[in-house]
Amino acid sequence: MAGSMLSIGECMVELMQAEGGMLRKGYAGDTFNTAYYARLFVPAGWNVDYLTAVGTDVVSEEMLAFIEDAGVGTAHVARIEGRMPGLYMIHLKDGERSFSYWRSTSAAKLLADDPDRLRAAIESVDLVFFSGITLAILAPDAAETLLAELRRAKAGGKRVVFDPNIRPRLWDDAARMRATLEAGARGATMLLPSYDDEATHFGDASVGATIERYRGLGVEEIAVKDGANGVTLQFGEGERLHVPAAPVSRIVDTTSAGDSFNGSFLARLAAGDNPADAAAFAARVAAAVIGHNGALVEREKLPAAR
Ligand code: ADP
Repeated sequence: MAGSMLSIGECMVELMQAEGGMLRKGYAGDTFNTAYYARLFVPAGWNVDYLTAVGTDVVSEEMLAFIEDAGVGTAHVARIEGRMPGLYMIHLKDGERSFSYWRSTSAAKLLADDPDRLRAAIESVDLVFFSGITLAILAPDAAETLLAELRRAKAGGKRVVFDPNIRPRLWDDAARMRATLEAGARGATMLLPSYDDEATHFGDASVGATIERYRGLGVEEIAVKDGANGVTLQFGEGERLHVPAAPVSRIVDTTSAGDSFNGSFLARLAAGDNPADAAAFAARVAAAVIGHNGALVEREKLPAAR
């Protein structure tokens, strides 16, 4: 069963505290994490590609090598002379994580500056994934370029999947944030929101309110993630289904719970699973990811796809 998925966004260098004041280097970012987990669980014959922009420096080379080692294609990555990848550092104090970011001049902010490249990449795949973070890092006209291409893909019958992944710190203005996220939803056929974000920033009083709001924006397929409360699915006019979260024996690090859910859910839909089965599998993957450190957990520590 051949097919292809393209995830669009920013992957950053990650610096994490290690023993003796050392820093351990990794690479992560919501849309790349989603591509990583999708790649682990897509059926044979499916490709997963990442679209971003990087520089021409050593760090960019290393990042691309890392992405390719994960089995994710980089043919659609733009190379921008004089720019470098963004970077973030994770601080751990008394079990609490906090983050510092250096990303305001990252190469990825220019990922939508070449509309022809964007169109060719999107046209070449079956499924496109992007997030509210992808939109947040782009200048307003670049975000509009991307949104126009996504609307075109949706009109052409492609599956276009959006996780609003709301990060108010990345937006200069709350009204523009909400308007751009709504524009993202209008360009999508499937929404994968997290209920707590939607309640906080759009005032939704229930998971059902989130579903109705996005249906009102023309989205056919919706899976609302709600942490330990599981996921609620509304696909077309079908029955509304609740899929419980999988048990987690010990929560170690919740980073990437949503991203691992997204990637494994999309991969199992691509494999032909119905939404409820795909969500149940994705919940098991997310539970395993929460039980381990880091955004990208190795395949051996995750459940096997049937
Ligand atoms: P995000 O990380 O995007 O905020 P959620 O917190 O809703 O997303 O988590 C995504 C998925 O991870 C959930 O749908 C659920 O399957 C799983 N999950 C999250 N927190 C827990 C938890 N405490 N116990 C079990 N599963 C969880």
